[in-house]
Amino acid sequence: MSIAYLQCIEDACRRRQDPKKDVNACSFCGGLVEVKYDFGAVDAERLRHEWHQRRLSGEPIDRSGVWRFRELIPFVELGDRIVSLSEGSTPLVGTRRAGWWAGPVHLTIKHQGNNPTGSFKDLGMTACITRADARGVRMVACASTGNTSSSMAAYASRAGMKALLFVPYKQISAAKLAQALDFGALVVEVGDTFDEAFRLLREIAAEMGLYLVNSINPFSIEGQKTIVAEMLEQRAWRPPDYIVVPGGNLGNSSAIGKGLRELKELGFIEKVPRVVVVQAAGANPFYQTVSAGSEELLAVDDPHTEATAIRIGRPANWKKARRVLEWTHGFCECVTDEEIFEAKALLAEDGVGCEPASAATVAGVRKLVRAGKIERHADIVCVLTGNQLKDTEYIMHHRSEGRRSRRRLRVEPDLEALRKALDKAFAVPV
Ligand SMILES: *Cc1c(COP(=O)(O)O)cnc(C)c1O
Ligand SMILES: [Zn+2]
Repeated sequence: MSIAYLQCIEDACRRRQDPKKDVNACSFCGGLVEVKYDFGAVDAERLRHEWHQRRLSGEPIDRSGVWRFRELIPFVELGDRIVSLSEGSTPLVGTRRAGWWAGPVHLTIKHQGNNPTGSFKDLGMTACITRADARGVRMVACASTGNTSSSMAAYASRAGMKALLFVPYKQISAAKLAQALDFGALVVEVGDTFDEAFRLLREIAAEMGLYLVNSINPFSIEGQKTIVAEMLEQRAWRPPDYIVVPGGNLGNSSAIGKGLRELKELGFIEKVPRVVVVQAAGANPFYQTVSAGSEELLAVDDPHTEATAIRIGRPANWKKARRVLEWTHGFCECVTDEEIFEAKALLAEDGVGCEPASAATVAGVRKLVRAGKIERHADIVCVLTGNQLKDTEYIMHHRSEGRRSRRRLRVEPDLEALRKALDKAFAVPV
C-alpha cells in the first residue's frame, strides 16, 4: 500500500482525493491538490549519507538527481518503471562580476539549463511520466511556453507514449519547438498567449480524458522539489539566506517551497532560506496580487516580455506559491526587460549563459539590494531555469543585429582589410 496521497490545498477543504485516480484539481472544491506522504520516522543523518553514497553508483536510478533522493518522493510503488534521462545533478557555480553587480552579494548559480532537454522542467517530467506510466497512461498532453513541451516530448518518447502539446502561435522560441518536433510530439499551435492555449487544453482534456503533465500536475512538483535537496547537499547542508527563482506559472517556486518545508519537518535543516520570486514587469500578476494582498488573482490579460518562458498572465499555481512566500518569509519582485538584459550580460561576463527568463533572478536581486530589502553580502542562490541555447533569437537580436551589436564584423577575405578592421575594433574601448 502506498504512503502517498493527494490532498486539496484549500484551508477550508483539505480533503483527501480518491486514491484510485490522479487528479489535478480537488474533486470537492476544484482547488489545487498536492502530494502528501506519511513519512514516518526519518533518520536524516543516515539518509544524507546514503544519498551521498549513491553518487558513486552506476545505477541509472542513482545517477538521476531526482531519483537519488527517492525517499523524498515515495509515490512510486514496487515494480513501477522509472522513466529517467539522468536529469538533475546540475552544477552549482559561484560568480564574481554578477554577484558584485547585483549587490555586492555572495551569488551562486544553480544551473538547471544543464538538464537533458535544457531546462528544470525535466525534474518534474521524470516524476510525472513515471507516474503516468504506472497508471497505464498512453498519451500525455501539456500547454507550454516551450520548455515543458521539449521536456514532455522527450520523456514521453522514452516511455513509449504519445505526446500532444498546445503552444501559442509564434510565441515560443525556434529551439524549443524544434526539440518537441525532433522527439516526435504532435504540436498544436493555438491561441496568442500561453494562457489561452492552456485554457483550451484544460477544456479539451476534461472532454477527452487526457493526462496533463503541466505544473498543475502535483507529481510534477514532486520531481521539481528535489532541486532543494541537491542544492543543499552541494552546499554541505548549509542553507543560503535566499533562493531566487523566476515566476511564470509558479510551479518551480511552489516546488522549492514544498521541498524546503519537508526538509525542515524531516530534520534535514534548521534554517529555512527565504524564497524570492521574480517576474517580468509586463507579466507580473503574482507581483500585483501579493503587493495588493489580494485574495483573488489579479491576472494580466495581455502579458508581454521578451522572456517568453515567463510570459504568463494567469499563473495556475499562484496559491501554492503564495503559501511558500508566507512559510519562508519570502517576497515577490518584478523587473523590466531592460534589467533582464543587463543581468544576462553580467552573467555572460562570468561565463554563464542562460535564457532571458532565468536572468530575471539576478536582475531581481540587484533591485532588491538597492531597495534595502535584501542585505548586502547576503548568501544567495539564483536558480537559472533554462539553457542559453534555448533562445538564440533573443541573443542574435540584442547582441548581433540590434543596438548593442558591437562585436560582429563582416570583413573581406583580404589581410589588409582584416588588419584595418581589427585595429579599428580594438581601438574602441569596450
Ligand atoms: C517554465 C520556466 C520558467 C517558469 O517556471 P514556472 O514554474 O512556470 O514559474 C522560468 N524559466 C524557464 C526557462 C522556464 O522554462
Ligand atoms: Zn478541495
